[in-house]
Amino acid sequence: MTALLEVKDLKVAYGKIEAVKGISFSVHAGEIVTLIGTNGAGKTTTLRTLSGLLKPVSGSVVFDGEEITGVGAHKVVAKGLAHSPEGRRIFPNLTIEENLKLGAFLRKDADGIERDIESSYERFPILGERRRQAAGTLSGGEQQMLAMGRALMSQPKLLMLDEPSMGLSPIMMQKIMETIAELKAQGTTILLVEQNAQAALSLADQGHVMEIGKVVLSGTGADLLHDESVRKAYLGED
Ligand code: ATP
Repeated sequence: MTALLEVKDLKVAYGKIEAVKGISFSVHAGEIVTLIGTNGAGKTTTLRTLSGLLKPVSGSVVFDGEEITGVGAHKVVAKGLAHSPEGRRIFPNLTIEENLKLGAFLRKDADGIERDIESSYERFPILGERRRQAAGTLSGGEQQMLAMGRALMSQPKLLMLDEPSMGLSPIMMQKIMETIAELKAQGTTILLVEQNAQAALSLADQGHVMEIGKVVLSGTGADLLHDESVRKAYLGED
């Protein structure tokens, strides 16, 4: 089966600093694929490049059968690749509903948008209850739900999530991870960047461990979860 996303030998630099040094991986429809690794490994840089916010030095990105390497962010969203960024980046002074509508900015089907807003409220009831309140009044975990809901409003073929568990309490983190599992069960394909390796690998079909700009180990989520070097380096075992 051809992959939905195929990344080949991708290199990305900030000036002279090579942040991503030639990585390759693929994501098939229906899968959760995770990139794990410590701070500065290049995970966020990879997602920002895939969504067209950064231009790669070299390499190729094929999404849904089309080369999207170096294509601008708007076009990438239009092709069905959505990004829920690190730090969530919701608009605190806009209402929850206004934030959700922003995720549909490329869509013209008003009825479809209304339906999808209602589905967001079914998926995340707290967002529905507080739809007219400023998004800045939500807790961190609720803001993460809003960021995910907003990304889903573009009806993506692939949803990229950058550190959805960042800064959340263990209970909230578990809820977010359950939500990611539900999204997959409903057919959403997900590329998940996480520092919480245990949580991410438990959900993932495939995982890739990144260290200083390179993929150093790849395998199924279960294989990596049981890999001794991963357990020592990322799961805090001796
Ligand atoms: P984190 O979990 O902290 O986001 P990461 O794995 O996502 O880590 P990146 O944020 O992609 O890593 O960073 C990769 C490397 O690129 C790091 O060395 C970082 O310092 C560097 N870097 C990131 N953004 C910039 C920038 N705007 N200018 C210069 N260097 C940058």
